Amino acid sequence: MNDQALNKAKLLDQSDVLATYRQEFEMPNDVKGNPLVYLCGNSLGLQPKQTKKFISDELEHWAKWGVEGHTQGHNAWLPYHELLTHQMAKIVGGQDQEVVVMNTLTVNLHLMMVSFYRPTGQRHKIIIEADAFPSDRYAVESQIKFHGYDPNQSLLLWKPDPETGLCQMASLKALMEQHKDSVALIMLGNSNYYSGQVYPIGAITELGHHYGAKVGFNLAHGAGNIICDLHDNNVDFGVWCTYKYLNSGPGSLGGVFVHKRHAKAHDLPRFTGWWGHDKVTRFKMRDAFEPIEGAEGWQLSNPPILSMAAIRASLDIFDRATMKAIRDKSVQLTAYLAELLTNLNTDKIKIMTPLDPGQRGAQLSLQIKDSDRSLHDALTDLGVVSDWREPDVIRVAPAPLYNSYQDVYNFVQRLNQCL
Ligand SMILES: *Cc1c(COP(=O)(O)O)cnc(C)c1O
Repeated sequence: MNDQALNKAKLLDQSDVLATYRQEFEMPNDVKGNPLVYLCGNSLGLQPKQTKKFISDELEHWAKWGVEGHTQGHNAWLPYHELLTHQMAKIVGGQDQEVVVMNTLTVNLHLMMVSFYRPTGQRHKIIIEADAFPSDRYAVESQIKFHGYDPNQSLLLWKPDPETGLCQMASLKALMEQHKDSVALIMLGNSNYYSGQVYPIGAITELGHHYGAKVGFNLAHGAGNIICDLHDNNVDFGVWCTYKYLNSGPGSLGGVFVHKRHAKAHDLPRFTGWWGHDKVTRFKMRDAFEPIEGAEGWQLSNPPILSMAAIRASLDIFDRATMKAIRDKSVQLTAYLAELLTNLNTDKIKIMTPLDPGQRGAQLSLQIKDSDRSLHDALTDLGVVSDWREPDVIRVAPAPLYNSYQDVYNFVQRLNQCL
């Protein structure tokens, strides 16, 4: 790597239309105060500077109003979650009625499966990726057992091709053709947390529906990263978290999408709570549950406002930057990362993630030959924040809102040094 490569990174930064957003984030430093190269936004996104203000506004609101804060003052808390809906819906390509922010991710996955995994004698199987995130697998297995079925019979794995390590549509089609109307649900992460592979949401949904199965996606690594178009892609449900690409803070609330065609399906079984009850009569404390039409009808509890305030701070940035510009930069930024890695011309690094932008988001998963965790430790010592997955994978995800081309350059230069 040479001056010419560094100059190119600088030029790309100069023409980056999103470059100014970096100043809106708290960029972490090492103990000596030197800036870190932070490429871990797929695990925990960085803090927008305005988050403090959004949270402190709600603390002040509480101090000033006490319980009256639910109904009084600017941004009363009772309908507070509604302030998030439209901006969140735009990020995942849903209509407002289809989206709600509530609970956390795995909780929401369970709530969605309560409604959309309805095994009957013959139709009881769930398809997930072989490399599914462990929490997803636990959740899916426990749902199968909850309904009295055996995961050994009812859980089907969409296995990656042994050559490429990627999951191919052809093998999903073959799996569906083999199991046909015994499949009740396809539930996939998108993009896959381990390989970074992005699956075609529309084609998978069509395939599942063709065989009469429901189709849901866990977009923990998709929301704020790729264009999901959940409504147009016709998926039954989607769930995601807001602490990865959506920069809303550790453990912050998750998002849920329920397609409009299920908005009035009040006969769908669901676990209910008062926050999902019709808003007009909620406080009459009636005996019978009357769900709100749409995704809001799945809410259980009055939500944690402080977490929602942090989400609002982040959504405001996404709204100004727009998902389209974010994704456009992401395609380029990660292509630049791939280019620098390829130019190293070493057989030690294998990029697992497909390079075709249609099959990836921001993240590249790098398999490093004959390496172990000490490589990751060495990188950390050089001021790179990345993510290590056993046995030999480094995951890096340049986040287009705050990462620069020079960050990517610095990462590759330091990785090269460690090799
Ligand atoms: C991050 C992530 C989770 C984490 O679930 P929580 O309930 O938020 O702890 C689950 N599934 C996937 C695919 C993830 O990427």
